[in-house]
Amino acid sequence: MRFRPFIGALALSLAFPALGIAQAQDSAAKQKLIALGTVSTDHRALINEIKQDLHVAEPVILLIGPFEDKIWMGELFKEAGTAYVAIDQNFYRSLTDKEQEAMIGHEMGHFIYTYIYPYLDDRIKFQLQAGADLFAAQYVGADAVLSWLGKTFPTDDDKELAEYKWRKKVLGDFKQAF
Ligand SMILES: [Zn+2]
Repeated sequence: MRFRPFIGALALSLAFPALGIAQAQDSAAKQKLIALGTVSTDHRALINEIKQDLHVAEPVILLIGPFEDKIWMGELFKEAGTAYVAIDQNFYRSLTDKEQEAMIGHEMGHFIYTYIYPYLDDRIKFQLQAGADLFAAQYVGADAVLSWLGKTFPTDDDKELAEYKWRKKVLGDFKQAF
């Protein structure tokens, strides 16, 4: 059990108790993703550890695209009693083993830091993403998450974005604290 809950997650779950994962997608869209993806057995130990820590009852499947640009780089969604960590194939292959784990940890962090569609405002979006980053950092370390984050925001322009700067700062603070 490496996961320690953060106050932010509790506050958010109290504020938005009824919101589930991937609200923007209807069942047909999720079925399409499932049909397009390939089930992978990679990183099973990590997935099982997180699943156990979070008391996630449903199966968690790692699903690797291509998803025909229907998702950005990855996301967590639930369909028919199963949870899916869906990751774009090309992006997944561009990552090191540690970065793949960071990404899986981040996506599974969204079991707690649940997506809210549409994002109410940027502060909430940043908070959710940074929360999922910190969650992942507890399993794979802040450096692996920072390295993955750098690839998630690939260009210099991307790295000027407030979201990137905020998430990097939060991870930097985490690194110092532990
Ligand atoms: Zn995320």
